[in-house]
Amino acid sequence: ACVSKCTFSTEATGEKRSLSSDAIINLDHGDPTMLETYWRKMGDKCTVVISGYQSLSYFANTKNICWFLEPQLEEEVKRLHRVVGNAAVDDYYMVVGTGSTQLLQAALFALSPPDGSEPVSVVSAAPYYSCYPEVTDFLRSGLYKWAGDANAFDKDGPYIEFVTSPNNPDGTIREAIVKGYGGGKLVHDLAYYWPQYTPITSCAHHDIMLFTFSKCTGHAGSRIGWALVKEKEVARRMIKFMEVSTIGVSKESQIRAAKILGVISDSCLPVPPPDSINFFKFSQNLMVQRWDELREVVGHSEIFSLPEYPQDYCLFTGKFTETHPAFAWLKCNKDIEDLGKFLKGHKVLARSGRRFGSDPKYVRVSMVSKEEEFKLFLERLLAIQAPTNGNL
Ligand code: PMP
Repeated sequence: ACVSKCTFSTEATGEKRSLSSDAIINLDHGDPTMLETYWRKMGDKCTVVISGYQSLSYFANTKNICWFLEPQLEEEVKRLHRVVGNAAVDDYYMVVGTGSTQLLQAALFALSPPDGSEPVSVVSAAPYYSCYPEVTDFLRSGLYKWAGDANAFDKDGPYIEFVTSPNNPDGTIREAIVKGYGGGKLVHDLAYYWPQYTPITSCAHHDIMLFTFSKCTGHAGSRIGWALVKEKEVARRMIKFMEVSTIGVSKESQIRAAKILGVISDSCLPVPPPDSINFFKFSQNLMVQRWDELREVVGHSEIFSLPEYPQDYCLFTGKFTETHPAFAWLKCNKDIEDLGKFLKGHKVLARSGRRFGSDPKYVRVSMVSKEEEFKLFLERLLAIQAPTNGNL
């Protein structure tokens, strides 16, 4: 019933209909435009004015080991982690990056033995985020090399494991897989460890934790990510990487990110500012609504299935909730070899399971697109499943 009711007005969000009913829907990327509706409601709360005389210097704070980190950004990142309780910040070094993509590379550089006789192996459990192999092998580094699925890794010697939790693409909650004997280094990619996606079950305190502004607030275009790093020497090497690759990170982006993160923390205050809407309540409601709608469509289907997620107690909201991942890991139960190709034939672009070291019977579909695209996606899924559809 919900599905037909939702067919498919975008009135609630104020978005204008701009796509024709036969437009190609691109849900291959995880472009987090869903939250534009929230930020429109916030009006001028996040507006920052930067005059021509400001931000000329390369340097932001020469007293900080991360000399290009704007003090306001450090303050607001730490405040938000304290408000949400998802990661420890005391006694951590913060390194800012041009997206967490740059920090992934900085971490690989920092964790590779500088005098190793061969490149260190880089692994992650399949299905893994498709950028890890790309980023690792792109420049054919002599320091590190992609070694694939962590489940199958049995080499002796040093390795680096990416642990992504909740995981991209399948939303599972994860821990390190490889049982290395002392030679392993872990990078925890916590891009989705925020209350709109998953219950916050503990305050993470790993050696290296990566976060991104893109998935927290939806401002992927600002290209801001941050790393929380326990060991000073590792932080120093990551900062060295940033120096050599881009001599720091845009100050304008950092200042804007600081402002926006501040607005989010304020929205969670017991007495929030006037006209403020609790950011995590709003974004969690949207995720729940989308997942309910998708499950309603897929639930009637013999063709498709979705993972189920257990409930857990969220320390932030004080409620039992499920994970509502930013991606749907959609499986085809019929005799179709390549679900990505099949969906493309129905004008839906999704990323093939093969790109994540998994089966092409799976695709990853973005759940964080604009409302209009999401609704059209549901319409297409329904049409594929209609009994009159001779495709299956
Ligand atoms: N890690 C994970 C798990 C991601 O899904 C993404 C974005 N898709 C990133 C890192 C990189 O995000 P960004 O470079 O936008 O900060």
